Amino acid sequence: MGKYFGTSGIREVVNDKLTPELALKVGKALGTYLGGGRVVVGMDTRTSGEMLKNALISGLLSAGIDVMDIGLSPTPLTGFAIRLYEADAGVTITASHNPPQYNGIKVWQRNGMAYTNEMENELERIIEEGKFRKAAWNEIGRLSHADPRGEYIKKALEAVSLDGSYTIVLDAGNGAGSILSPHLQRELGNKVISLNAHPSGYFVRELEPNAGSLEGLAKTVRVMKADVGIAHDGDADRIGVVDDEGNFVEYEVMLSLISGYMLRRFGRGKVITTVDAGFALDDYVKPLGGEVVRVRVGDVAVAEGIMRENAVFGGEPSGTWIMPQWNLTPDGIFAGALVLEMIDRLGPLSELAKEVPRYVTLRAKIPCPNGKKAKAMELIAREVLGSFDYKRLIDIDGVRIENDEWWILFRPSGTEPIMRITLEAHTKEKAEGLMRKARELVERAIGEA
Ligand code: MG
Repeated sequence: MGKYFGTSGIREVVNDKLTPELALKVGKALGTYLGGGRVVVGMDTRTSGEMLKNALISGLLSAGIDVMDIGLSPTPLTGFAIRLYEADAGVTITASHNPPQYNGIKVWQRNGMAYTNEMENELERIIEEGKFRKAAWNEIGRLSHADPRGEYIKKALEAVSLDGSYTIVLDAGNGAGSILSPHLQRELGNKVISLNAHPSGYFVRELEPNAGSLEGLAKTVRVMKADVGIAHDGDADRIGVVDDEGNFVEYEVMLSLISGYMLRRFGRGKVITTVDAGFALDDYVKPLGGEVVRVRVGDVAVAEGIMRENAVFGGEPSGTWIMPQWNLTPDGIFAGALVLEMIDRLGPLSELAKEVPRYVTLRAKIPCPNGKKAKAMELIAREVLGSFDYKRLIDIDGVRIENDEWWILFRPSGTEPIMRITLEAHTKEKAEGLMRKARELVERAIGEA
């Protein structure tokens, strides 16, 4: 995993590592890698955003790259702008759902998809080597400022429409979606109540949208008798949803519902998700003509899966959704519009959520030094053969074994010295039994590694 671009599919680094000096080098390296052309640069609301963005832009200009600075921009708007302005790449200065003192650099391809690990490794190699492209005085890149918001709203309104009007509480967490997301919902004809919408870089709630961090949103939905609550993380590539009764809708349930809606809208086909997603999705989409394909964790793998399988939709159980008819950048803002369209066509969320099957999910973290992870995974992969009576094994990212009634995923954390076990079964007894066995196996493997 990369030294500069972080791990586990979020390409963010800690602010004390991400200095303006490093941002300058990333700009030079990206310019060197591209060898010319145009790059769109946006940033989220963090206090270090301007500092890092300007350093990065300097690096790009020095390598002869023209830069379009789009200022405060959710990740999906950057992805949209790349295609709108026919740029060769895009960059968002963001640390996604991480605390305010963090920041990072995310790079995007011309088709709106994130840079792959291989591409990031190449940028890192250029930084290590230090041989940067240096433009002559008359070939230094030009800087312009652009605002793609109007076009984004226009195109989104062409893609999504509502017959009715709804009351929405929108909590963008003081992040980059604070202005654009409520704006789009209002343009769709809804009444919008905004929470945490001053884009100051000071975050009132934890940025990861979950049942705990969205308690304020849930309460407001109840008090205002709203139809739905919508929340984003810091760069608004993710969506969290609260139903009309003020309950946080579990990610797996939302993933099933939206996949089902996309199949209804665009016809039967494939849905891409990651190895950590449960069976509810498979069971929910099958009657709608959907087939689920699982890929590695991370939005790059999901986008690649969508293209390879020509899928109608791809999403992770973290609320990261990619709608290929729209773009290959995960887009929590467009996702919010789609959720409203789904409610408009199919009915209230609290009712829809009842249609999704629920199983028992258990998770465990077992301490494992980083140096032992590879060997321990090897031992686990060998040992599961004799220990569990499974039908299928998927080893594209960790080891997932599954039967028709249960699955277990063994996967080392990308960021922490722990081994994760995630499992799902139809009954509590079965789940607990599997967890005891899985835990024993992992502890033994770590001991022997
Ligand atoms: Mg994010």
